[in-house]
Amino acid sequence: MLLTITTTYRPATDMGFLLHKNPANVQSFSLSFGRAHVFYPEASFERCTAAMLLDVDTVSLVRSREHALSLDQYVNDRPYVASSFLSLAIAEVYGTALQGRCAKRAALVEQALPLQANITVVPCRGGEALLKQLFEPLGYGVTAKQHVLDEQHPEWGMSSYYSVSLQNTCRLCELLTHLYVLIPVLDDDKHYWIGDDEVEKLLRHGKGWLETHPERELIADRYLKHKRNLTQDALARLIPEEAIEAGESAGETTVEKSTEDEALRNRLSLHEQRLEAVTRVLLASGARRVLDLGCGEGRLLKLLLQQRQFDKIVGIDVSYRALERAQSRLHLDRLPTMQKERISLIHGALTYRDKRLEGYDAAAVVEVIEHLDPARLSAFERVLFEFAQPATVVITTPNAEYNVKFETLHAGTFRHKDHRFEWTRAEFEHWARRVADRFGYTVTFSLLGSIDDSVGAPSQMAVFTKNIE
Ligand code: SAH
Repeated sequence: MLLTITTTYRPATDMGFLLHKNPANVQSFSLSFGRAHVFYPEASFERCTAAMLLDVDTVSLVRSREHALSLDQYVNDRPYVASSFLSLAIAEVYGTALQGRCAKRAALVEQALPLQANITVVPCRGGEALLKQLFEPLGYGVTAKQHVLDEQHPEWGMSSYYSVSLQNTCRLCELLTHLYVLIPVLDDDKHYWIGDDEVEKLLRHGKGWLETHPERELIADRYLKHKRNLTQDALARLIPEEAIEAGESAGETTVEKSTEDEALRNRLSLHEQRLEAVTRVLLASGARRVLDLGCGEGRLLKLLLQQRQFDKIVGIDVSYRALERAQSRLHLDRLPTMQKERISLIHGALTYRDKRLEGYDAAAVVEVIEHLDPARLSAFERVLFEFAQPATVVITTPNAEYNVKFETLHAGTFRHKDHRFEWTRAEFEHWARRVADRFGYTVTFSLLGSIDDSVGAPSQMAVFTKNIE
């Protein structure tokens, strides 16, 4: 099994410092289950790739008590696929990088870098859909190639093995952490031994992203090998009390609240989950200057203010009354000067070009587009993607397919009286892909809230990343 990590950050060879592995050398490491070899197939100023090849020693595994393989595993796929061994190797070989430590390039550790990880091959029980559900909410573009069971006999059909490519702009330690936790989750190998400190490990490595991941229950369940007591312990500790209590929903949108309340099977309210997911995408993008377009009463602004990464936060809304409420919710008049300088509110419309929206790294547009007149949507597209042009744009909107699940909502009506339209998943994706193509962005999608097999989730999110020219 092979893991390659590529960056196009310049100088790309600086990745050698972050990984604590010199690009000029080939290094080998002895591990409890075999050997890992690290080398750089390419290392130039523009582009650098670090490869880690795992050579799992089946014979010693059968003998080892710690990893105790049974004989059937001795002859099965274990040695050839990335699984828990890859996590162990990441922890041992890239351990310092995983912890985000690098004295020689301290600033670079904190910086979001353009990164691509390729893994050959990953067992993925749940297929490409699960792969996307796990990685897309963390901001990854995911491509996967499913392998046939046997190259010589294509008629035998497809295997559950994939070659996977993951692209993101994030810190290297975040990429390694996500791989460390999620690759064994994809594998879902129940035979593999787990230690007593596995809950601690999951909480430690999941800090800052797992709490709000829409699939956190599946992740904890699979990571902890379906041990119900461990999973419950982990989930209870993952989600803080005040978040569970959060009963409030989106501002003045009272109809939305009553209908969406029915969907609160999860412990966080849907709107809370939405805002957390958006915050996570903005954090992962590395943005420092962020816009909240159609900020309403400032619930997202309040979360963003808690994150020190954001040093300029601007909320814009067409409703003066909403801005007044945001002002009092954020206690703007009582904030210390330093905090006050980080945030401002602007009265404006998203359908007119506005110079004040230019020069930001990222923009969030949470449950706003469905309030725009369809005839004005193309004006909004140009205002945001052509003129303001932030590198990252996160847009959420209701998923119309899910409306059948709201008992109090009559067929053919919208969730809120001010909604001008509500889109199905296909309609939203069609619109978003057209916008991305036209304005030079790449877009990925994820669902927000509890997922129903046939109609999807109550809300949907698109993350646009500006293509590098
Ligand atoms: N993003 C907020 C509010 C969503 S409600 C939240 O998550 O809670 C939709 C908001 O979009 C309202 O506050 C409304 O005033 C605002 N809005 C609607 N049309 C707008 C426009 N053309 N320009 C700016 N804001 C608009």
